[in-house]
Order: sequence, then structure tokens, then C-alpha cells
Amino acid sequence: MSANNAIHVAVLGGDGIGPEVMAPALEILRKIEAKSGLSFRFTEAPAGANHYKETGKSMPDSTVRLCEEADAILLGACGLPSVRYPDNTEIAPQVELRFIFDLYAGVRPARLIPGVPSPIVGADQRGIDLVLIRESTEGLFASMGKGVVTHEDARETLVITRRTSERLFEFSFKLAERRKRRGRQGALACVDKANVFKAFAFFREIFDEAAQRHPDVKAEHLYVDACAANLVKRPWDFDVMVTENMFGDILSDLTAGLIGGMGMAPSADIGDRYAVFQPCHGTAPDIMGQGKANPTGMILSAAMMLDWLAGKHGIESAAEAAESIERAVDQAYGGGIKPMEFGGSNGTADIARAVLEAL
Ligand code: ATP
Repeated sequence: MSANNAIHVAVLGGDGIGPEVMAPALEILRKIEAKSGLSFRFTEAPAGANHYKETGKSMPDSTVRLCEEADAILLGACGLPSVRYPDNTEIAPQVELRFIFDLYAGVRPARLIPGVPSPIVGADQRGIDLVLIRESTEGLFASMGKGVVTHEDARETLVITRRTSERLFEFSFKLAERRKRRGRQGALACVDKANVFKAFAFFREIFDEAAQRHPDVKAEHLYVDACAANLVKRPWDFDVMVTENMFGDILSDLTAGLIGGMGMAPSADIGDRYAVFQPCHGTAPDIMGQGKANPTGMILSAAMMLDWLAGKHGIESAAEAAESIERAVDQAYGGGIKPMEFGGSNGTADIARAVLEAL
């Protein structure tokens, strides 16, 4: 693909506040289109709990085919607590996509935007700028839908493979190197529980092998429990972390909390060929349909999409566009925007307008 071709984006709004945060993100991409040489083609497709209610499927085959054909996939949020499979689990096409497209690297950046209050004392002065990489196709989630439950006990099996771990660590070291070139520490911590479980000792061993191939990055080890405590005590000391799926699921909500809330945190699920970009948050049924949802995480996920496309296809203008979205978000918050999510009076439309104006 070149900058002259339209970038084809599969758009899966999903359920709850998913479509509410997707609309401003698309508006912002349209504005980017008007300002840069980039052009986009958006194709919307169904996925999620509402689709399941109507059809008995989490998403149609046509949605999977679209995702396969598109250059990138944007996703709002899927699943509703009130809609469940017969085994009582929620409809989660966002998790299915990770397996279908082998999206092993879940990238969850947490950067405290100046002007946004963090619950951590001192964070305003010292800043937070870290990335958590969550393995997204195995770990405890390998057991999804396969757990065995009897009247007496329940069992789920955690899986760590050499193949996925090697690719995950390679990706993580490269990301740490890239951040180092942009002025960050260049440190990568493997977060595990190697003191208790053989599977995590295996995970750590593969990490150490990868570390030898990347001497420019400071490789560290952290037990997940200590990591959780340190993230709360001194989040400013963290650069890049890489961890197993379930640990990453939990820690990424913690890191989103550090930077103001779920609505602030973007994410990307990246594989060797495909990638899905979606905010860290879920469908937030408690606030859906009220115009209260914070679209910042979704907007920043769209910026991550542009940055990924830039790296993949060598489109310099896409990297510049990604940076301009981040700067516009910073400017909007610097100008006093305060989402309802953390006690302010600004809803979805106000936040979208402020970012668009800053662009
Ligand atoms: P999932 O398991 O799908 O991640 P969840 O049930 O853990 O979902 P969310 O849907 O992310 O959680 O919601 C958690 C809380 O955060 C809710 O109170 C919700 O209202 C709030 N929240 C989530 N996203 C946003 C947002 N974009 N703007 C404002 N509040 C949000």
C-alpha cells in the first residue's frame, strides 16, 4: 500500500458505548484525511452481544472475511452482561479475533496526559509513560470455552508455548528499542510468577534468551504481585512490561486506572500480519446511551492504528498523523476538558469537539 491508496479499515462498533466512542474516532480520521495525503475507506460490520441476540452467532463470517481483507481493524467494545452463552460466559468476538488472526501482542500504553488527574500522589509532577504488553492468544485464556466443571471441582489449563513466547518477546524488545530511540529508558520487564509455577520459569527462560539478542535494552524480571504494588507506588519508574494473558488482563486495567480511568486507555492487538485497535474499556452498560462515555481511549487507539500502518507500509505521513492526534488530545486536556468519567462535566460530544478543534 502507498500513501495514495485508500487505507481500508474494518469498523466494528460493537455493543454498549462501543459505537458511541467509535463515531468521534471516525470523525477525527476524516479530519486527518482532509489535512494529510492519507485517504480512508471505512467498512462497518456487525459483531457482539446484540448480533448474537438476533442471530445466535457472535459475528457473521462476512465480518471475519472483511477483517481479513482490510488493512486494519478498529473495534469499539463488545459484550453485554445480560446476554450470555448457555455456559453463562459473555459474547466476546474481540477475544475470538485474537485467536483467529493470531494477535499475540496486546499493546496497552498508559501515558498520563498533562492536566488529567491521576489517583497516584506525585504522578502529576513525575509523569507516567509506560507500556504493558499482554500476550493475547494463550496463557490462561487458552482454556477459554474448554474448562471442565463438575459438581466437585473446576479446572482450566494455562498454556505457554515457545513459538508464541519467542515472537512476543521479540516484539517487546523491538518496542523497547523504539521507545529508547524516542528518549525513553529502554527497559523491558518480564512479569511472571516464576517462583511458583514451572510454566512461568519456562516463560522467563525464553525471555532471557531473547534478552541476549537485544543488549541495548535493560532486561528485568518482576513477580506479578510485586509488579502490582510497584505500579501503584512508583509508576513513573516503569517503561515496558511483558506478561502472560491473564496477568496482563488484570494489570492493564490497573495501568488504565493510573492515568485517569478506563476511558483514557488505548490498546492494540498485534500479530505478524493483522492488528485490531480498540480502547481498553468494555461496553460500560451503566452509562450507555447517555452521552457520558469518554472517547479518548478509542481516539488514541485510532492513532495507534496509524502508527502501526506507518511502520508496516512505510507511510511516513501516517506516523505524523498519529502524532498529531496525540498532540490534539493533549491540547484538548490542556485546555481544561474534564470527562464525566472522573467527575467533570464533559461528555462524549464535548471531548470529541475539543480534539477536533485542536486538530
Ligand atoms: P470488560 O470485561 O468487557 O472489559 P468491564 O465490565 O470490566 O468490561 P467496562 O465496561 O470497561 O468494564 O466498565 C468498567 C467501568 O468503567 C464502568 O463503571 C464504566 O462505566 C466505566 N467506563 C468504561 N469505559 C468508559 C468510558 N469510555 N468512559 C467513561 N466510563 C467508562
